[in-house]
Amino acid sequence: MLARNLTDFDQQHIWHPYTSMIEPLPVYPVQSANGVRIRLCDGRELIDGMSSWWAAIHGYNHPVLNAALCAQAEKMAHVMFGGLTHEPAIELCRLLVELTPVGLDKVFLCDSGSVAVEVALKMAVQYQQAKKLPKKCRFLTVRGGYHGDTLHAMSVCDPITGMHSLFAHVLPQQFFAPRPHCRFAADWQIEDIAEIAALLTQHHEKIAAVIIEPIVQGAGGMWFYHSQYLRELRQLCDHFDVLLIFDEIATGFGRTGKLFAAEHAGISPDILCLGKALTGGYMTLAATLCTDHVARTLSQGEPGLFMHGPTFMGNPLACAVAVASIKLLLQSNWQEKIAAIERQLRQELEAARWCKQVAEVRVLGAIGVIEMQQSVNMAALQKFFVEQGVWIRPFGRLIYLMPPYIISAADLTELTRAAVIAAGSS
Ligand SMILES: *Cc1c(COP(=O)(O)O)cnc(C)c1O
Repeated sequence: MLARNLTDFDQQHIWHPYTSMIEPLPVYPVQSANGVRIRLCDGRELIDGMSSWWAAIHGYNHPVLNAALCAQAEKMAHVMFGGLTHEPAIELCRLLVELTPVGLDKVFLCDSGSVAVEVALKMAVQYQQAKKLPKKCRFLTVRGGYHGDTLHAMSVCDPITGMHSLFAHVLPQQFFAPRPHCRFAADWQIEDIAEIAALLTQHHEKIAAVIIEPIVQGAGGMWFYHSQYLRELRQLCDHFDVLLIFDEIATGFGRTGKLFAAEHAGISPDILCLGKALTGGYMTLAATLCTDHVARTLSQGEPGLFMHGPTFMGNPLACAVAVASIKLLLQSNWQEKIAAIERQLRQELEAARWCKQVAEVRVLGAIGVIEMQQSVNMAALQKFFVEQGVWIRPFGRLIYLMPPYIISAADLTELTRAAVIAAGSS
């Protein structure tokens, strides 16, 4: 079909993420994708700088992942998870228990990141109820976070970028500490923990859990903060009998240079959310892990069950491709690859620092960020990037790169070159 017909129908009938049905933003029809290249229907090829939002860590159309998916489709695409189980789910959960920070050994499989967050929040509420502390039903978090788009997940997103004013009458009210101030590799400043400590001291009787993205805040501003913040937070949560939830939906599976960002701090949360790169970007799947203590306590309370169970829980196709993706990652030299991407991003994005419209350049693992002084004109920049043969999708004041780990040095240079030109001309 002609690309033109496709996009006409699309613009009239199909919602895209965060778009209007009156003034839809342009969309580019994709014919196929292979390795780090996205091929548009008009024949143009774009080097992927986004990994389809943190997910496609091995690139597209990977023979090993394709084979895993096809082999599983031959056996069964899906069976219900109530009363039934299967090898792909068991193998995946075995890997997750083994690889995630110590102590997280019960796994709840679910369909998307937002649902994994809902599950984590519900676990915390049921845990506190089982402990006969029903007043501990609210959440504490930091500003600048992003945890998903469903209502309770939204309530713990940053109040401004998360548009809390629009939904004020329906959103549960949570507690917010300032965004961690102290930078990832800077000297630790003890004052950084003071405000969240004060909130816990004052309100712990109403707080079920603290939820936070460890080390890297993603969609809420691509901000990298100090690991000591997390160690201090772990101690505070233990002291006040408040659970600690890490949302590693974005950071999980190597993106920050460690397999999980919690490893930078050397601590374990009570509950951990995973998603995005879990299936190497092939299918929607997420997981919420918790400790034996949380699982047992919750199961001892009323009604003796964890009250959640999605229709497509443990989908075998998604589990099989997740197992293949994780094994592929572990068999690759991912630490070296990410260290090399990090070095190259640091070197090549440095040029943007001297543009007067640029507020800051920062890099951690396979994430490179150019923060502008002002919001960028996304539609104009998007067009520019496509003309340059790269797929980079800025938002707000941020032009950022998080390429698939398999990217070559030459292709990465194409991405950084385009990003630096865009930063200089915005
Ligand atoms: C993307 C993301 C989510 C939401 O995941 P969806 O699959 O989009 O529902 C939650 N938390 C973090 C940190 C994320 O990056």
